[in-house]
Amino acid sequence: MYNKVLIFVIIVIFLVISCDIIDQNHNDPPSSVLFDQEPQVSIVSNTQVLITWDTEENIGGEIKYGTKFDELVNSVPFNTSSDVQYISFDNLLPNTNYFFSLFFNPDDEYLPSDPMSFQTLNIDDLIVTDLANYQPRIISALSGHSAMRDSIFLSDRSSTENRTLTAKFIEEELSAFGFTVKRHNYSGPDYSSIKGTNVYCTIPATVETNDYIVIGAHYDSVVGSPGANDNASGVALVLTITGEVLEMPDRNKNVIIVFFDQEEIGLWGSHYFADSLYESGTEINSAHTVDQIAWDEDGDRAIELALPTKTLEFLYRASNNETIQKSIYIIDARSSDHSSFRRLDIPAIGITEEYRNGDTTPYRHSPEDTYETVNFEYLASSTHLVVYALKVLLSQ
Ligand SMILES: [Zn+2]
Repeated sequence: MYNKVLIFVIIVIFLVISCDIIDQNHNDPPSSVLFDQEPQVSIVSNTQVLITWDTEENIGGEIKYGTKFDELVNSVPFNTSSDVQYISFDNLLPNTNYFFSLFFNPDDEYLPSDPMSFQTLNIDDLIVTDLANYQPRIISALSGHSAMRDSIFLSDRSSTENRTLTAKFIEEELSAFGFTVKRHNYSGPDYSSIKGTNVYCTIPATVETNDYIVIGAHYDSVVGSPGANDNASGVALVLTITGEVLEMPDRNKNVIIVFFDQEEIGLWGSHYFADSLYESGTEINSAHTVDQIAWDEDGDRAIELALPTKTLEFLYRASNNETIQKSIYIIDARSSDHSSFRRLDIPAIGITEEYRNGDTTPYRHSPEDTYETVNFEYLASSTHLVVYALKVLLSQ
């Protein structure tokens, strides 16, 4: 009898403890442990908000928003098991600050804990650069269509001498934006031909942050090729980005603008540049590299994105929806500078014409890769897309 009472008491104590545990679990708000990556919210247009997070969970709730921090008078529900969701708003006013809060079911605890504010973007004012003059001038000088300086017309950007001239040209173009331009010299083993110079500058964030975005393009070409498409086009695009980023009044990340040497003989410039960032402990949000972005024979403006992370893919897709509405293809191509960053686990994306789909320059790595073959309208449309994507990233 005594034993039975003891067992009964033990069972009761056990039940009480387990109920308590269950109850505690039930009352716990959704913990940030749920997320491998905290949710991020950003406006991608006057009508869309992009939320990204990293979790396997099915998530539902609502977004409350309004023009005053303490008066979030509107709300829209969301429910998704995907890592990325666009939420559309049909009543946002352009050029107005909105405050947003995410509220998650079932406990109405929100993450992150503070509402976030964003300025809506106006596509009409997206680009300030005079693309029609600027990009042709850059590609013309780089590809020997016009003199780079004095009476020097480059036949290619392969020899040490021609690469040195090119680096100097890029340096002067960057300086024109008012920067102190830096050189990153590297060299491989003594017996190798690995020796070169990356040219770069850093556009500081307008807030205190250790976060960096890298955007770059290689400036060298193969022997005997003027390399107008490969890759004067990418250089022109990234130089344009420099001016555009400078125009942004609110930049929540630092931006490193970089021009790589020796891509064509083994991605060496970007290899050593990525190494140096990695070794210095620089926190890189993402690296974006542009290579061959000037051929579009069928006029569909389509673009390929090489091996983007899921977040970067959706960033570009969302930006595309709001700008140029190109077809976007995701490809598995590793033979360009983005690979140098990805190998160090830095989120990276390559941006290129339809290299895999075949609507790509037939003159690659040949003497016919000339200024005349460049499709400037296509280059401009691709520039719009990248500028938009960076604006969204910098607003986060
Ligand atoms: Zn290239």
